[in-house]
Amino acid sequence: MKKSEKGCSRRNFLKIAGAAGAGSLILSNAHASLEKTGVLAAKNAEPMKVPTRSFGRSRREVSILSLGGMFDLSANQLMLKQAIKWGVTYWDTADCYHRGSERGIGKYFERNPKDREKIFLVSKSDNRDPEGMSKLLERSLKRLKTSYLDLYFVHAIRSISELDDNTRRWAQKAKAEKKIRLFGFSTHSNMEQCMLEAAKLDWIDGIMMTYNFRNLNTPLMKKALDACYNAGIGLTAMKTQGSRTYWKKANEEPLKIYEKEGLTIEQAKLALVWENPKISAICSQMDTMKLLQANVEAAVRKKALSSHTKDLLERYALETSGEYCAGCSDICESACGNIARVTDIMRHHMYNRSYGKPEWAREYFEHMPRQVRLKLAQTDFEQAEKRCPNKLPITQLVRQALDDYL
Ligand code: SF4
Repeated sequence: MKKSEKGCSRRNFLKIAGAAGAGSLILSNAHASLEKTGVLAAKNAEPMKVPTRSFGRSRREVSILSLGGMFDLSANQLMLKQAIKWGVTYWDTADCYHRGSERGIGKYFERNPKDREKIFLVSKSDNRDPEGMSKLLERSLKRLKTSYLDLYFVHAIRSISELDDNTRRWAQKAKAEKKIRLFGFSTHSNMEQCMLEAAKLDWIDGIMMTYNFRNLNTPLMKKALDACYNAGIGLTAMKTQGSRTYWKKANEEPLKIYEKEGLTIEQAKLALVWENPKISAICSQMDTMKLLQANVEAAVRKKALSSHTKDLLERYALETSGEYCAGCSDICESACGNIARVTDIMRHHMYNRSYGKPEWAREYFEHMPRQVRLKLAQTDFEQAEKRCPNKLPITQLVRQALDDYL
């Protein structure tokens, strides 16, 4: 990377990239992070600006990096301000993020009302029935201190059957009332099937799905992506890190990506997803200025990834597939009589291991009915393990989750 590139010196970049590479997610206060990253001092430098892409048939321009807000953003107002300065104007939240996410964004808009129009704002409903969705939408609007959302998702669907004609009518009404501009869903289970079915509907404007270096080249994901793109559905990739796993066989390889490419492995994973122009944006969970800056650095980079790095990522995906849950829940859950949402359990394991958030996993298990927990502790997932394409030790992982988080 050239010294003058987009206002960040190489030395500063190395410092930030190194922090992101170590998975550093927490800084005690935003002022300190601004000073440490040199943002406050770099007054004369040309500011970085994240590029935009068109969002499906809506033709709305969105920043290719979306600020994922699963965190308490009330305490991170400076980061929101800086995100706008760097052109990160696609913000993602959800009613169910009970960590001050929506309230934090609302606090920001209350103090900076003129910035609302700059933001492509997304929130999500856990509810599926129209009455419940209306209630949650109103609550989101109130918390976010806005009269409309740019895009509203039904959160985390596992099958397109969770949406029906009532959903379609609800979306049309909410649009007519100018409470939402676009409508769609997010999915991290059975993504490809959900996407293929959604492409047949003419009222799904956007989808946010698990999409990363592990699944972007599978024939089914390619087919699903093409179908949605051709149908004019705006696509946002999430879970692009594909879970941080320890590369047992050659754990020095990620460092080689960094040496040759000037990118951390995390940044290389983002860059690979952005190489597909059919992806409008990547939603990345960011709760520190360092992480935001590392991701912005990756977003403004113009150079294509080398074939060497792509090969390394492909090998990394292959060699660590046994540590990754691919979200194909129809396969394992039917094999264990659908007693539990195996993918959700694996995802919460990932929140602990990759995001360093055991409290999120704890929260999930604490809300699980006691009977389900007891059943989980007694179930042998042998059949599910046999069918699992990644050969995950499901029984062991479920027991470990019950031990660790309860
Ligand atoms: S545990 Fe295996 S079969 Fe189940 S969703 Fe994960 S990868 Fe798919």
